[in-house]
Amino acid sequence: MLEQYPHLAFQIHEKSLANKTILVIGAGDGIGKEAALTYAKAGAQVILLGRTVSKLEAVYDEIMTLQSAQIDIQQPSIVPLDLKGAKASDYKGLASTIEQQYKKLDGILFNASVLGHLCPFDQIKENEFDEVMQTNVRSQFLIVQAMLALLKKTKLASVVFTTSSVGRQGRAFWGSYAISKFATEGMMQVLADEHKNSLVRFNCVNPGATRTNMRAKAYPAEDPKSLKTASEIMPTYVYFMSDISRGITGQSLDCQPK
Ligand code: NDP
Repeated sequence: MLEQYPHLAFQIHEKSLANKTILVIGAGDGIGKEAALTYAKAGAQVILLGRTVSKLEAVYDEIMTLQSAQIDIQQPSIVPLDLKGAKASDYKGLASTIEQQYKKLDGILFNASVLGHLCPFDQIKENEFDEVMQTNVRSQFLIVQAMLALLKKTKLASVVFTTSSVGRQGRAFWGSYAISKFATEGMMQVLADEHKNSLVRFNCVNPGATRTNMRAKAYPAEDPKSLKTASEIMPTYVYFMSDISRGITGQSLDCQPK
């Protein structure tokens, strides 16, 4: 199994992401929090973007605690931003701040998403559909537009989107969320095709069933202990950000292939 999937066999070490500056969108909780911590432990300079400041501060503190034990840990920065209300100008402002402060951006992990309500299609409320599409899709479109020029300045850049099995095969009652993940896969493919001769790569990662608040909301009767933790799926997340995945673009890979 591991030979067939190099992303699963990838071994994270403390210099896997040395000298990389990585923006993690939705870094305060669940998989995004774990990815931010793992990237920092692998030597990256991490920019923590999210909507709940207290959660971002807790991740910041955890990274700074690691710093006292491991000298290669870089001090992170916090960007409080709600994707629901953010505009193109916010993202353009963020791109210039990153350029001024860090001179470059090597990677973006698009992790934040909302589930919306799981319900029959004819019961999806218009405002809820709009919120899911704004948070899960439109924000990604605006952020890529704002950051592309900066990503192109670096030697090898990686943009990782987060998909789901319902973004590849539609499923009853997963309405807005499933549609938003199909759109995410489509955005990734368009960008990968447009940039196939460039040094910026675009891929999707499907975490698979993972022990987080979102999963508990979608499957309230499930025993969380039966699921992988976010920490267990991190090799794929680091693999995609590390130079070892250079040349890989337009792929949609599973952390937990069946
Ligand atoms: P969680 O709900 O646990 O975490 C989502 C993160 O996104 C939170 O930090 C949340 O912030 C942030 N976020 C949500 N809305 C906004 C917003 N408007 N602005 C800024 N940040 C926002 O989800 P998971 O960790 O489970 O999911 C991570 C990704 O993995 C998602 O894209 C999800 O679709 C995908 N996925 C997850 C699976 C699973 O089994 N867990 C399976 C397949 C895909 P806050 O904490 O402040 O609310």
